[in-house]
Amino acid sequence: MADVVDLDAPALTYDRTREADPDGTPVNVYICDECAAEIRVRLDSDPVIDWKLSLGKVHRALDEHADVCPGPPLPAELATWRELCDVDAEVHHDGDAEILTGCKRPSWAAPERDVITHSPWFGGFRSTPAVLPLARRRADDAGAAYMDRAHLLVAAKQYPLQGTAGLTVGLTVGKEWLTMFTAEARQLARLLHAAADLAESETSARHD
Ligand SMILES: [Zn+2]
Repeated sequence: MADVVDLDAPALTYDRTREADPDGTPVNVYICDECAAEIRVRLDSDPVIDWKLSLGKVHRALDEHADVCPGPPLPAELATWRELCDVDAEVHHDGDAEILTGCKRPSWAAPERDVITHSPWFGGFRSTPAVLPLARRRADDAGAAYMDRAHLLVAAKQYPLQGTAGLTVGLTVGKEWLTMFTAEARQLARLLHAAADLAESETSARHD
């Protein structure tokens, strides 16, 4: 029959039973009324003969539990809600799209070219851009000793959380990046090729 003790921890009470371990050592088993944890206290000597020593062990064990007792279990709905409230919304990505998106970096993506934005959905990877110098445009920057030729940049991009729709090609238009779906990029390549063919079609200056 369980009896209730109230030792040095007034916030807790414990139901106690007496048992013995398989080797015959007497054991006091306490069930915490707050959290239902089982606390087993092995009594090395006969608790009747050496009751002061035994009581000291019991006090220590129960005090230790009182320090860590989580209290009564929460209703299931509240426990679930607490877990939902405990989600950390911060993402410490340190400029790394792999961390921002939680997706693996493609081997072609240059880490220093990661797209870091306000949302993982718009975060992504970019290749090192290919450069097409443009002879007919004025230099982007020109000094007495050097000139930065006008040029286009082209890069592969992947916004991994957007699935296949996030596989794109970027092309600079002026200072801005124009992002196209891969099908659009291929169609643009066909258009450029067809336009070049057209321009050269009635001359002998055809270059492929
Ligand atoms: Zn407890």
